[in-house]
Amino acid sequence: MQYISTRGGIPAISFTKAVMMGLAEDGGLLLPRTVPRIDTETLNAWQDLSYTELAFEIMSRFIDDIPASDLRKLINRSYASFDCKEVVPLIHHDNLHIMELFHGPTFAFKDIALQFLGNLFEYLLERDQGVMNILGATSGDTGSAAIYGVRGKERINIFILHPHLRVSPIQEQQMTTVTDDNVFNIAIRGTFDDGQAIVKSIFNDIDFKSRFHLGAINSINWARILAQVVYYVHSCLHVSRHESHKALDFAVPTGNFGDIFAGFIAKRMLPCGTIHKLILATNSNDILSRFVTNGDYSLRQVTPTSSPSMDIQAASNFERYLYYLLDQEPDRTREAMEQFGKTGKLDLSPYLDQIRRDFIAGTATEKNVLQTIGTFYQQHGYVLDPHTAVGIFVAQAHRKEGVPMICLATAHPAKFGETVHAAIGRDPELPKALGDLAGRKSRCELMSADRGLIQDFISSHARHGQDPS
Ligand SMILES: *Cc1c(COP(=O)(O)O)cnc(C)c1O
Repeated sequence: MQYISTRGGIPAISFTKAVMMGLAEDGGLLLPRTVPRIDTETLNAWQDLSYTELAFEIMSRFIDDIPASDLRKLINRSYASFDCKEVVPLIHHDNLHIMELFHGPTFAFKDIALQFLGNLFEYLLERDQGVMNILGATSGDTGSAAIYGVRGKERINIFILHPHLRVSPIQEQQMTTVTDDNVFNIAIRGTFDDGQAIVKSIFNDIDFKSRFHLGAINSINWARILAQVVYYVHSCLHVSRHESHKALDFAVPTGNFGDIFAGFIAKRMLPCGTIHKLILATNSNDILSRFVTNGDYSLRQVTPTSSPSMDIQAASNFERYLYYLLDQEPDRTREAMEQFGKTGKLDLSPYLDQIRRDFIAGTATEKNVLQTIGTFYQQHGYVLDPHTAVGIFVAQAHRKEGVPMICLATAHPAKFGETVHAAIGRDPELPKALGDLAGRKSRCELMSADRGLIQDFISSHARHGQDPS
């Protein structure tokens, strides 16, 4: 399988090149040249595969430059760190199927992609005798999932900036109690945006970037999307084993459009009609639901909510969908993104018919989220995290008779205890691995939000390759 850029400015490359490139060098996003189709016969033959066997079948259709036995090992290792054998168990309540994506080491769905990406980086660096220094800024969740993805790996160091005292205590402890030699937590005196700005400006220093082999781990890496395609197919197979039906809907709490884009790829892969609609759920940062509802993709101010991992305006994976919407024409995609860069908005209302073939959207207010967590708990004794509650609220509004609805549960409620407490009147149960955190040894540098200081710190702690000179 060859990979191309949404902006058409680079020659086609292999899967492993695409993984190492992250963002395409022309500023676009990387996509497989075609999406392989799975016919009904193949899908039926997959009925009894385990999660990891299914992951291999799906991924190997997108990857042709890693030997099959190596790819199997990478997949098995990535999901062995999950605390249940099904990897993504489905729970059934009230005609809703809840797909729990939070059984990885940091209790949020990002583990599914980042456990795999970490192992993949390690494998490719070993193969090519390279090294990588990963640099990223986090507002909480992605940082810990990235750290757990690469902790203890031979050829990788990771530097994660978080805003000092502006992440939740659990999130801070999850990051700083990882004391492996290759993990560097930096708390900066400033906001998440300050951290993000520093990281961006360091990546723009091309000299520094190449001298220290900087790598990113953000949601635009194609391997992350690919790992997420698997659970859509997995749950289709699971539900069809228990119910006879023609089609299913998925409700997806959405921020950067990565998770739901994986659903879009699954929809294209599977026999027509297997996935009926993808239900895009946002909190009050609703640019994406405005886009689906009336074609209005325009930036507004970011408002903090109880589902912080979705407090996003410009969604970093949106360009991938835009490319399909614009008939897979890179020139039109590039022009649209340039216009969005200049004006902060796109009018996509001429494409509404096409958008609505794939998506339905809705928004949950803070009040909706609290009520949904409270009511769901009273009715089913099941505790939702605020991100999942956004999805459930929107799903309930759009449920169609006779179409099973699968709701993606993206985080464990214990990670957002305050909001959950406000909704159900008690703290959610803490999984053992989170309960222990407070007593563990931790390591973190506290620094000013100063790019020069942080660059110096990276220079003196970076992993170095064998320079030919
Ligand atoms: C990242 C995240 C999301 C949003 O996923 P996107 O791929 O950015 O749309 C939702 N819920 C949780 C808990 C997350 O960490």
